[in-house]
Amino acid sequence: MRIIAANCLFMALSLACLYPQQAAEAADEELTVFAGRLVDVRSGSIRSDVALRIRNGLIASVEDADPETLPVDYLDLSEYTVPPGLIDAHTHLCDNSYMGQAFGHWIYPAASFGIVGTVNARKTLRAGFTTVRDVSAPFYADIALRDAVEAGWVEGPRILASGAMITMTGGHGTWGNWMAPDHQLSTNAHLQADGVDEVRKAVRVHVRNRVDLIKLAATGGFGTANSLPGAASYTVAEMRTAVEEARKHGLRVAAHAHGAAGIRNALAAGVDSIEHGSMLDDEGIEALRDSGAYLVMDLLAARFDLIEENRDYSDKGLENSNEAEFAAFQAVFRKAYEAGVRMAFGTDAGIYPHGRNAEQFALMVESGMSNADAIRSATLWAAELLGKSEQFGELAPGKAADLIAVSGNPLTDVTVLERVEFVMKGGAVVVAP
Ligand SMILES: [Zn+2]
Repeated sequence: MRIIAANCLFMALSLACLYPQQAAEAADEELTVFAGRLVDVRSGSIRSDVALRIRNGLIASVEDADPETLPVDYLDLSEYTVPPGLIDAHTHLCDNSYMGQAFGHWIYPAASFGIVGTVNARKTLRAGFTTVRDVSAPFYADIALRDAVEAGWVEGPRILASGAMITMTGGHGTWGNWMAPDHQLSTNAHLQADGVDEVRKAVRVHVRNRVDLIKLAATGGFGTANSLPGAASYTVAEMRTAVEEARKHGLRVAAHAHGAAGIRNALAAGVDSIEHGSMLDDEGIEALRDSGAYLVMDLLAARFDLIEENRDYSDKGLENSNEAEFAAFQAVFRKAYEAGVRMAFGTDAGIYPHGRNAEQFALMVESGMSNADAIRSATLWAAELLGKSEQFGELAPGKAADLIAVSGNPLTDVTVLERVEFVMKGGAVVVAP
């Protein structure tokens, strides 16, 4: 019954499914899930034969169990390993940059970004990612998508959305840098702001438009014309103003930052996370560790761009081959991890095709992270970065019933997370085994 109700809710195949009260009734149901093996992310160990009792979409209890004693209609995952639902802390669900010119930002109307978002949200959830932090989308498409998922109109993960990244004039994320000065685009897709007053206003505009966090560009970037990833952009004063304004509303701040100087500036301003960090130096690693800010390194997007697509970045100030640049990126990851920097899983989905998110686990392990920590980075630690540790990130009483199932043991072979065979979000089954 439960599985039928959940699928019905997501697919909206019948009229009854369209009414929200149906969802509310379904959520009131109680359900028992029996896991043959459960991943305890806190201890980094496997527990065998565990019953999860789920009530109103939340986990009520997690106990050792004998299937003989369970209710007759329990959901049987005895053949599977059950980790918590995964979290990707850096996605762009409303963007398909990986398509290159075929997804030209200046061709499509605003609605297109929301439409691709609905497709990508579904792929992401079905890949086992029950929560994402979406860090920049044009036209508030991310806000529209977040609300559509929450209302049950479309299938997708829980979304924390930043609205468009706030960037300086001509900074990373600015469309149309390649155009002649007399053909510049309006700034309604991205959000350009210069100086503390404009930056403060940009944050206020985002707060009014109901963002969940603020994203700033602290350096240039790869995907923007006339922008150098190694070059710092916002001043400490500008970013400090953004952080101050965001904090008034209880919002966190993520900083896109590749170059070492921009990373230092962002940390001095008090941001909560450094996104990318590709040119992080020893001083930056120390500053990161001391600040307690998170590092979100998108190894998968980097591999896609540099290795899989072998893109030409000769105009970006890189001195080495793409292979050497990717190896250097992995070396930074290893150094930061070994130094004890807090790290959260984030892939920059959209730079590569959505739904492949879990491929990053293997790259993290290859770069020196333990399997248990790679899984923690996408559960416990990502939930901390999102400020949502109370709500999800582990399978424990009081947390959301967000869980997945895989064959095999991710603590010994992390690639099993690339083949998710069951997904539950908030107690509703999305993918049945
Ligand atoms: Zn990104």
